[in-house]
Amino acid sequence: MVNPIFLISFVNEIELILKERIRTKGPLPVSEFMELVQMHPTHGYYRKSKPLGASGDFITAPEISQVFGELIGLWLAVMWEQLGRPQEVNLIELGPGRGTMMADMLRATRSIPNFFNTLSVHLVESNKHLRIEQKKALEKLETKISVQWHDTLNFIPPGPTLLVANEFFDALPIEQYVLCEGGWQLRYVDLSDTETFIFVEKKLKHFSVEPIPESIRINSELGSVFEVCPEATSLAKSISKRLVSEGGAAIIIDYGHNKHSVGNTLQAVKQHEYCNVFDYPGECDLSSHVDFLALTEALNTSELTVHGPVFQGTFLKDLGILERTEQLAKSMSKEQALELRKSTRRLIASTQMGELFKVLTLNSKSKQATIFN
Ligand code: SAH
Repeated sequence: MVNPIFLISFVNEIELILKERIRTKGPLPVSEFMELVQMHPTHGYYRKSKPLGASGDFITAPEISQVFGELIGLWLAVMWEQLGRPQEVNLIELGPGRGTMMADMLRATRSIPNFFNTLSVHLVESNKHLRIEQKKALEKLETKISVQWHDTLNFIPPGPTLLVANEFFDALPIEQYVLCEGGWQLRYVDLSDTETFIFVEKKLKHFSVEPIPESIRINSELGSVFEVCPEATSLAKSISKRLVSEGGAAIIIDYGHNKHSVGNTLQAVKQHEYCNVFDYPGECDLSSHVDFLALTEALNTSELTVHGPVFQGTFLKDLGILERTEQLAKSMSKEQALELRKSTRRLIASTQMGELFKVLTLNSKSKQATIFN
């Protein structure tokens, strides 16, 4: 006989919660499905798991090479200079993962004490296990820098701001609109007769096509999917508002497209392999491509200077990634140098992360950034 305790260990709590929700309240919009599997207070993927690194589900640019965080750190120092060297700066990171990028940024800039000594670090992180990893990563630097954790950007005190977000926006919940025979409809997650999750399209009460840009509404073929990320838009507005009122600069790096386009980009990754979005609810990383045009449309461009989005490869090469790689390689063994060059290629090659990933920077207008000019 099968031991019942053995069976219990395989129960996926999120799956039970989702099914109960659908049975009692009806199908869930894709955004609510994503929100629940990623952010459920106890069972959500971004609450309980350690998603990053070789033993996790996916790997990000700062985890690939220290040079990534170092260059972004130095870029921030240039922004600080151009902002007129404010004496107290909130250095904010959204979704800092294992704290690797923040540690690399701080290590690279501690040799610029005039800049470094102005910084207070603010980390926006939902995952308590990752908060511990971030604390450990920053403690290794042995600095006296103040570090605080927050649930959202809104809790961070006012003041001149330098903000970074790498692979944060792709994790925010999206809505999917689908062009069906009867016109545009919203995609929901429902249960089949055999109680498995399925996608269905519906036009329920209060449905509006307003979030779909006119060019997409008119020119799309039957079956097209258009994705909207309301949280990304409202976050972009909050960042914009903060930079305008407090002064500062921000850099947003993510995979995505620089114009509105159709396509189903919702994806699930578990242990570095793609899987079906319904296979491991709350146990795999769900993400989608970021619509950078939608982000820039949400910004107050009369008060902010917006650069990009440009390809990550172009941005990093402009910041001197090849030179920094060679400089570091000189002090390494042959094998280490080879590994470092391989990582650099992975970040910048058009066939790898160089073009899929885009970089968007913003800064308050009074002091102009000139890095792309
Ligand atoms: N920036 C890191 C990690 C990217 S993974 C890197 O490049 O390595 C996404 C990160 O955002 C994780 O730290 C995750 O826990 C956090 N996160 C995801 N959704 C969040 C939310 N809604 N609020 C706060 N943190 C969130």
